[in-house]
Amino acid sequence: CGIIGYIGDRAACEVIVKGLKRLEYRGYDSAGIVTEDGGKLHIKKGAGKIDELTGKLGLLEMPGKRGIGHTRWATHGVPNDINAHPHSDCTGKIALVHNGIIENFAELREELLKRGHTFRSDTDTEVIAHLIEEELKSEPDFEKAMRKALLRLKGSFALGIIYTGEPDKLYFVRNESPLVLGIGEGENFAASDVPAFLEYTNRVVFLDDREYAIITKDSWVVKNLDTGEVVEKPVKEIGWT
Ligand code: GLU
Repeated sequence: CGIIGYIGDRAACEVIVKGLKRLEYRGYDSAGIVTEDGGKLHIKKGAGKIDELTGKLGLLEMPGKRGIGHTRWATHGVPNDINAHPHSDCTGKIALVHNGIIENFAELREELLKRGHTFRSDTDTEVIAHLIEEELKSEPDFEKAMRKALLRLKGSFALGIIYTGEPDKLYFVRNESPLVLGIGEGENFAASDVPAFLEYTNRVVFLDDREYAIITKDSWVVKNLDTGEVVEKPVKEIGWT
């Protein structure tokens, strides 16, 4: 299972499909991509191998210069097209991918159902999108709403999150599941592992548990999930081999 995110001037789908191929060694049963173009999210996903899905779903024809890809190793919900990531909220403005397990998803889902949310998948992951949507109703600042929602999660998660209300950003969160940023020139990356983007940059920032990153095409910052405070992180150079 793996995550790859891109924001810059290239066609995001091309960087993401290549990145997903490089993450195949981690194992998966399904894959999917979200890109954003003109304020609209485009999601394509399904059970099967990247090569097969690329042709079948037209993964290389997705518009946009920012996006996130995912390979899934199912833990909650059978491997099928609906349970493949990305997952979105009811408004369709938030989409996210997840590696790991949300241990308290059943009680969160129950609470969200009572608040009128409808769920499309059987995954533990989908509650996260709805939880952020719910927090956004009383907290218009996306970053704050996201933090509030994530602080309710128990379990392991590496997340990639995109929101149409913030056109130039991608969010990545780490807790007990790996994530690393790739720092480029006028473009930035995030992934489960360095090989996913090593073709483009060898300057990396490793996230630690309970940290999240906000990347734009020419900036990046890492913060502590519990306090929201900025964490100073070293940029490391990886050998190109
Ligand atoms: N628990 C999530 C699911 O079953 C994520 C699995 C993964 O790590 O790929 O959909």
